Amino acid sequence: MEINGQTAVYGIIGNPIKHTSSPAIHNHISQAMGIDSVYVPFVANDDLEAITTGLYALGVRGINVTVPYKSDIMKYLRGNEDMAGRIGAVNTLKYTEGGYYGYNTDILGLKRELEEENISLQGRDIVILGAGGAARAVAFLCASVKPGSITIINRSGDKARRIRDDIAAYADSEGMSGLSSNINVLTSDEVCSVNGNDLIVFQCTSVGLSPGDDECVMNDEAFYSKVAVGVDLIYKPSVTGFMKYVEKAGGRAYNGLKMLIYQAVSAYEIWNDVLVPEAVIREVERKLK
Ligand code: NAP
Repeated sequence: MEINGQTAVYGIIGNPIKHTSSPAIHNHISQAMGIDSVYVPFVANDDLEAITTGLYALGVRGINVTVPYKSDIMKYLRGNEDMAGRIGAVNTLKYTEGGYYGYNTDILGLKRELEEENISLQGRDIVILGAGGAARAVAFLCASVKPGSITIINRSGDKARRIRDDIAAYADSEGMSGLSSNINVLTSDEVCSVNGNDLIVFQCTSVGLSPGDDECVMNDEAFYSKVAVGVDLIYKPSVTGFMKYVEKAGGRAYNGLKMLIYQAVSAYEIWNDVLVPEAVIREVERKLK
């Protein structure tokens, strides 16, 4: 990669940021596609107004936003796409006339992963473990494709109930009659009463993230006998405690690596108005594995 006076600059802001894989993904894509751009990490502080204004003034073409700034940065944008507004979080900012415009490519990334793995959520009974930022994005993705039911299980019930209320209002506003009465909140002790026997489960808590490798937020083996597909958003370790439970009970299990790659690919495509070739995506996947 040769940086010159015309090289377009992109980056990621967050805190901490030193473990991010995003520079490796984006710089690999630019190199493979012969696009003159560079992507760098920035450790941010809470002065998001100064950060947004400064990056814009310097002409930084696109920014990824990670924990803990995905929601707070929204008030400094020119606008955002509708779904990002409903979720209340952006992870991708594009330089446009008049300011940055926000997108949520976490949701696009998961959608692409599910399509690639032939997992359809329509009409299915879905369980979401967790109620943080990622769970909220997953809940909106699920609600948008007319599932049979959604059950949210989280340590803090108030956060789960807030997501339930927001996606129920979204389902009603989109005319998905009947879905809002099939969105439930349970505690882990009530998991035996979950709807359905062919569940698709999204593990959206941070329990099991390296170095907590074999830990799992749900340890009830009877629950896993009802699980057909389990998707853990965690990708380090590559096989999590949750995935081991799913596979032991005969279900299919996936980690969050493809979601990570596809959220980056989606951001790259939004910024550069290109389609990243399949072969390049596979190269990135091999590199990260
Ligand atoms: P977050 O907003 O901090 O939410 C964390 C969630 O984990 C909350 O539901 C929290 O419950 C729960 N939790 C944490 N410690 C727990 C414990 N000891 N027992 C029970 N529940 C616990 O984080 P996030 O942004 O949603 O991220 C969640 C996970 O998804 C992370 O591991 C992150 O790496 C992963 N992720 C992956 C991708 C990807 O591209 N693959 C994208 C985004 C996120 P409370 O609400 O009760 O605190």
